[in-house]
Amino acid sequence: MKPFNNALEQLKKAAELVELNKNIWERIKKPDNVLQVSLPVKLDNGEWEVFEGYRVQYNNSRGPYKGGIRFHPKTDLNEVKALAFWMTIKCAVVGIPYGGAKGGITVDPKKLSVGELERLTRAFTQKLVGFIGSEKDIPAPDVNTNSQIMAWMADEYSKIKGYNVPGVVTGKPLEFGGSLGRNEATGLGGFFVFEQLAKRLKLNSKKTTVAIQGFGNVGCNLAVFLHRAGYKIVAVSDSQGGILNKNGEEMDPEEIMKAKKQKGQIDGCYCRGTVCDCLNFAKIDNEKLLQLPVDVLVPAALEGAIHEKNAGKVKAKIILEMANGGVTPGAEEKLNKKGITVVPDVLANAGGVVVSYFEWVQNLQNYYWTLEEVNEKLKKIMDEAFEEVWQKKEKYQTNLRMGAFALALERIERAMRVRGM
Ligand code: GLU
Repeated sequence: MKPFNNALEQLKKAAELVELNKNIWERIKKPDNVLQVSLPVKLDNGEWEVFEGYRVQYNNSRGPYKGGIRFHPKTDLNEVKALAFWMTIKCAVVGIPYGGAKGGITVDPKKLSVGELERLTRAFTQKLVGFIGSEKDIPAPDVNTNSQIMAWMADEYSKIKGYNVPGVVTGKPLEFGGSLGRNEATGLGGFFVFEQLAKRLKLNSKKTTVAIQGFGNVGCNLAVFLHRAGYKIVAVSDSQGGILNKNGEEMDPEEIMKAKKQKGQIDGCYCRGTVCDCLNFAKIDNEKLLQLPVDVLVPAALEGAIHEKNAGKVKAKIILEMANGGVTPGAEEKLNKKGITVVPDVLANAGGVVVSYFEWVQNLQNYYWTLEEVNEKLKKIMDEAFEEVWQKKEKYQTNLRMGAFALALERIERAMRVRGM
């Protein structure tokens, strides 16, 4: 799969829609900078393994480069480029003063010990030192990276600089410059966006069913907020399989998380368990989950979950795309033809980077906010972004993704113009 080709396909469609200036198009279709590094790491058994890492700085017209770091065996440069591009669009959609970037290491971190993971993270940070910085490029968590990994990155960077620079990464632990609310931010942001849509479509929460593919930080937190608001979660899954409330039993995501956590962690950093450890429910596989006759389907794992081949089998009315690139362009065309509304990733999952922005602001000011302040500001930004995307969709008579891209491209174009390209 080539996610960057999908990203460019989306960009091309949007550029045509807004009649993007040719010079801007030439600039935005390619990343500004690409860094590829080799990372030799000493394993616990005394052997060395050399991993491959990437950082793509896509565009910084609107502010410093910003975006997460992913640890995954299938991560490659093409994927990181796509993710960096989507970050550029995402930050512009929600109007925060950042450009877009992304990083990754091709590794299955669950096969490493915690010591090996720390050495790998520090080795990557050493290679990134000249490239990142709180005014330049600010990494954050993404798939398989968490606040502990961010703490190691900020610590390594600070040691090399000789003074503390907490603002060099976001998504850190509270003890080391993290922000209240950052951990749940992506899920909560998705919930705020969904509530706006629900208002327009006049959905009744008690009668609205939801299936979620992916029960990591994003899927699990979103499930918790939806469940608390009265929506009916009917199925959830993770990489090891899924569960379904076959007889209509209540599915409480907090209980599922508890069951999952009971198996403990793999060497301190990753959950060993799966949603399948929650034995009260019937089993369902990931592909079948996508075909359930629910109102809302949430891809919250990796890109390309809904592709051209399975899109025809989707029965949901709404797709809330919490995974970056969760729906391919070919699939989206089919879904739109069937009248299915897709709330795009660059809006739906932007809550994470919004609270990353708040964390960075707090780091720069050395003044920390309450959870209420964080969540209130997050809601305001997400509600406004939804409204603006909706208006662009109406203006251009298009779908929500193209509405979001139109909004973002206009903002990026304006920034490039005032700066003199
Ligand atoms: N990795 C998250 C994303 O894809 C968060 C990025 C950030 O906070 O910089 O949006």
